[in-house]
Amino acid sequence: MMQVLSVTSEIYPLVKTGGLADVGGALPLALKGRGVSMKTLVPGYPAVMRVIRDARLVHTFDDLFGARADILEVTHEGLDLLILDCPAFYDRPGGPYADATGKDHIDNWRRFAALSKAGALIAQHGLGGEAGTGWRPDLVHVHDWQAAMVPVYMRYAEAPEIPSLITIHNIAFQGRFGADIFPHLQLPDHAFSIDGVEYYGDVGFLKGGLQSAWAISTVSPSYAEEILTPEYGMGLEGLLNYRSADLTGIVNGIDADIWNPATDPNIAAHYGTENLKSRERNKQALAERFGLVDGDGPLFCVISRLTLQKGMDLLAETLDELVALGGRLAVLGAGDKDLENLFHAAAVRHPGAIGVIAAYDEPLSHLMQAGADAILIPSRFEPCGLTQLYGLRYGCVPVVARTGGLNDTVIDASPAAIAARAATGFSFGPVTTDNLRRALRRTVRLYKEPKLWTAMQKQGMKSEVSWEGSAALYAGLYSELIARKGT
Ligand code: ADP
Repeated sequence: MMQVLSVTSEIYPLVKTGGLADVGGALPLALKGRGVSMKTLVPGYPAVMRVIRDARLVHTFDDLFGARADILEVTHEGLDLLILDCPAFYDRPGGPYADATGKDHIDNWRRFAALSKAGALIAQHGLGGEAGTGWRPDLVHVHDWQAAMVPVYMRYAEAPEIPSLITIHNIAFQGRFGADIFPHLQLPDHAFSIDGVEYYGDVGFLKGGLQSAWAISTVSPSYAEEILTPEYGMGLEGLLNYRSADLTGIVNGIDADIWNPATDPNIAAHYGTENLKSRERNKQALAERFGLVDGDGPLFCVISRLTLQKGMDLLAETLDELVALGGRLAVLGAGDKDLENLFHAAAVRHPGAIGVIAAYDEPLSHLMQAGADAILIPSRFEPCGLTQLYGLRYGCVPVVARTGGLNDTVIDASPAAIAARAATGFSFGPVTTDNLRRALRRTVRLYKEPKLWTAMQKQGMKSEVSWEGSAALYAGLYSELIARKGT
């Protein structure tokens, strides 16, 4: 059995702000049958401390950046967790990164340097102390900037390093802080350098991690290539090019038990490929929720954070045409207020054709995938994306920008792909309103050919979207790195 320590700032179902949490929670379970035993180190936020039961004290740090901290071990819903219980850093109101008003905690650098330092100490010395079990990992897998300093702390410590993998879930979030924090990071002076944590004169947590980890992965093969370019690399493309031999892309999977149209408790009628007609009842329920009347085009949906990354401004510009084509649109999304207002305004212009619910509503998102004909995802960049995977599984045809994970998981309905019965959706690029309009027209046209449309839905529903293949790739990468240690 390979022993792996995963370090992450989010884990589903305990604490989630995005796809990172889904991976953190799903990967250890998917790896169970593949010779990998994974323990996950997470901060003891209130949301975590509230729900755990029967945790065992397995380690104590007397002084972790000036605070006392315990490691509590507990099994929760099949996940082996190591909780960094440190009230000085994590016991406070708000979310994992921001206070109740949405403002970032000012000591985030220390909160996540502490998480990383704790991870590095466990990785290099095992769980020790009187209460300790002596458990030691063979490899450490860290996620995003919040855990990126683990390989940095290992590299500058006295003890030998163990193999490390860092995964980038979204390179837009880099953990960049002023150089004035450097003296407090407990690193040797020479770590503030071009091949250490120095980043354009500042301190870069993700930068340091990418420099120090043995290998780097990101959440789709296309995104792994895109981040080598200035357009997507957001300042890190030079370093990533330098390390490109150690960079791979592995797409995320979805939890096929939670997202299963044959058993989903959140939808009006269950169905599979053999009785797609039952989707009609979900469509009706969905139309009712959003106050939509029938049209002769498809019912589109959007389930998204309303941000520029997701291309929501471009979509808002195409809504009059979408309605003119006979389309309907149900939008479930929260985020940027200006974008929210654009969609509200469109709903007022087109009563009965466009409906907007500005909220985060997990059960409703299931009904939408089960009832809408197509899901619109015009992202400017998308490291992996999950909503297109849910769409595929639910027969809700994805209409996506040709970027990142969207590019790797949706097969465009080109004439050849339609003829070969291989198409699973529509993709367009580059992301402009003209190209999006063209994709909408193509979608409406094919929708009016029910045989072809149904074939495409079925093909999508047969796509591999579970964790099976990806878990095997991670397990393979782990063993490769562990083998490299011996050489
Ligand atoms: P990102 O992590 O960039 O937001 P992903 O597609 O990887 O994008 O993951 C988004 C997740 O959040 C999906 O599970 C999606 O269904 C969910 N989601 C996004 N917005 C909403 C919403 N308004 N209501 C319910 N679920 C949402």
